[in-house]
Amino acid sequence: MTETGRATELIALTERSTAHNYHPLPVVIADGEGAWVTDVEGRRYLDCLAAYSAVNFGHRNPEIVAAVREQLDRVTLTSRAFHHDQLGPFARELADLAGKDLVLPMNTGAEAVETAIKVARKWGYEVKGVPEDQATIIVADGNFHGRTISIISFSTDATARTHFGPFTPGFRVVPYGDPPALADAIDDTTVAVLIEPIQGEAGVVVPPDGYLSQVRQLCDARGVLFVADEIQSGLGRAGTTFACDHEDVIPDLYILGKALGGGIVPVSAVVGNNDVLGVIHPGEHGSTFGGNPLACAAGRAVVSMLSTGTWQRTATELGRHLFDGLSQLADKGLLEVRGRGLWAGIDIDPDLMSGRQACEHLLAEGILAKDTHGSTIRLAPPLVITAEEIDLVVDALFRVLTGKGAAR
Ligand SMILES: *Cc1c(COP(=O)(O)O)cnc(C)c1O
Repeated sequence: MTETGRATELIALTERSTAHNYHPLPVVIADGEGAWVTDVEGRRYLDCLAAYSAVNFGHRNPEIVAAVREQLDRVTLTSRAFHHDQLGPFARELADLAGKDLVLPMNTGAEAVETAIKVARKWGYEVKGVPEDQATIIVADGNFHGRTISIISFSTDATARTHFGPFTPGFRVVPYGDPPALADAIDDTTVAVLIEPIQGEAGVVVPPDGYLSQVRQLCDARGVLFVADEIQSGLGRAGTTFACDHEDVIPDLYILGKALGGGIVPVSAVVGNNDVLGVIHPGEHGSTFGGNPLACAAGRAVVSMLSTGTWQRTATELGRHLFDGLSQLADKGLLEVRGRGLWAGIDIDPDLMSGRQACEHLLAEGILAKDTHGSTIRLAPPLVITAEEIDLVVDALFRVLTGKGAAR
């Protein structure tokens, strides 16, 4: 079998053996290091998706790998039935990074979102005094918070919802970036506003300046929790520890995930103060794997790396370089470029090509990127990428947009 045959064979095997809930680009990755991956045929690609920011610190980041390897040789899973020596330190270090009291550890992002919803509802009944089963949570149009039934119940994406009902009640959707609409939607049953400070899956949609502060003020004035889903926007990606930092806004609950696991294991968490997270008591919520020793070791390495501010500054500087480069392509069919830190959403003129086609062309150029919503592509390379490598990405995008790309 030829080398090309091997990739084709593996793609066919995957297609006939997995449910078709994804439509991957035709590349079969065998290795990864830093910002680069290598496919089964030995071709190298610059990874400009970084597993939706779960690989913020690069593939097999040596510091995180060392911490996880050391933990692998000690103990990996105990359940929360017993204490272990990693959870306390991890929780304290993460809570300190966020300036909060407590951490509730889970595994995937969706689980952490579900956790925040449960905490907000319980807080609403026990602290705010909302009548039982009446709690409402306000969310934003275009949101992405995960794939569970409750979460898709308040999605505005028809593909995510169709034929998955009946849905969980108790959510209200308002336009994103619109404080008056939010103010109108809040009533005595409202326990929380749940938003992404930058909407990742919607195409790296940055809200208007002042929006996050206005959400904070509204929540304070009306006695409502501000819950920030920072699963994709947090932990360095936006050039700050949290995207909320851009407006010096402190939410009541941070929801974290993706990069918290260092690109090795799923680690998620809800982080908040005693007066909110303290409503949860033994037996009311949990997870067999949440807060396991291996996850904590990965999470501790990530928190330690973020504690100096270096990664955040790097994201800001590299982001500037990326956006400078992209601005040169303005007349080459880019309708809009948005973003913050090292994170860009790029709307391509749909008459030129779809986002999927652009990503297929970029793949032929040795760049991995992912489309979203028709004609948008997003760039979120690992923060270990260099300025020179960013130039390669911009040059490749130039060739793709001007039809001078590699043979395909
Ligand atoms: C990815 C993501 C989630 C869901 O995380 P999973 O680990 O895939 O369950 C939730 N919210 C946001 C903002 C995300 O980007």
